[in-house]
Amino acid sequence: MSRRRRIYEGRAKVLFEGPEPGTLVQYFKDDASAFNNKKQGVITGKGVLNNRISEYLMSRLSEIGVPTHFVRRLNMREQLIREVEIIPIEVVVRNVAAGSLSKRFGIPEGTPLPRSIIEYYYKSEELGHPMVTEEHITAFGWAAPQDLDDMVALALRVNDYLSGLFLGIGLKLVDFKLEFGRLWEEDDMRIVLADEISPDNCRLWDIKTNEKLDKDRFRQDLGKVEEAYQEVARRLGILPEGGPGDVKGPKTLQ
Ligand code: UDP
Repeated sequence: MSRRRRIYEGRAKVLFEGPEPGTLVQYFKDDASAFNNKKQGVITGKGVLNNRISEYLMSRLSEIGVPTHFVRRLNMREQLIREVEIIPIEVVVRNVAAGSLSKRFGIPEGTPLPRSIIEYYYKSEELGHPMVTEEHITAFGWAAPQDLDDMVALALRVNDYLSGLFLGIGLKLVDFKLEFGRLWEEDDMRIVLADEISPDNCRLWDIKTNEKLDKDRFRQDLGKVEEAYQEVARRLGILPEGGPGDVKGPKTLQ
């Protein structure tokens, strides 16, 4: 991963120049951070698992008509993606109270929400990712009203589809964060799903025990962090057991 031009390096991923114009290579690291980088660590094997988990989920979403930046997985830690102009808004969808929502409103973790709630955060490390409203987003020109409509419609479709997919393997999709980008084709622009979908940016709880199988194990020092990511991949049927070719579909629970 050394000779290619590095376009961007974040906490968990590196973006390199891709093999053709309009493409990038997304490299998944084992590094983890939380609480706006105040907590840092390494989750061994996370990059390999998130590369596969995100490949799997983005591919299923693409099959149901959700446009994404994902092209194909290249190797254990890298995937080819389309270069997009990232919209500087994190879209969080919540089904069950947890994390910052529980703290802000004093709602106990695990309380089902009366309906799915969407929140927006401005992508700025310096400002600590402040929560923003549609008014801020459109007034400051981070996204046009039409872009925002498309993002909300896509986020809700992703939520419906992934909630069902995870339920089928005994996991509750508590909440998750999405990022979107503008994909330019000639003079046309469409909004596509970007970044990654993995236990780094989803809360996933076991349906029966409420055991956390996501980055909260790292955030809250719950232990068995690596095992949690492996368990999600195993349930999705994508944990490579006998080598990279040995990839099956999800095992639906009875
Ligand atoms: N999230 C994320 N990146 C962030 C902040 C949140 O991926 O910078 C995800 C997080 O994993 C969770 C959801 O967004 O699935 C909602 O997070 P919340 O606002 O509760 O913040 P947290 O408690 O994680 O700080």
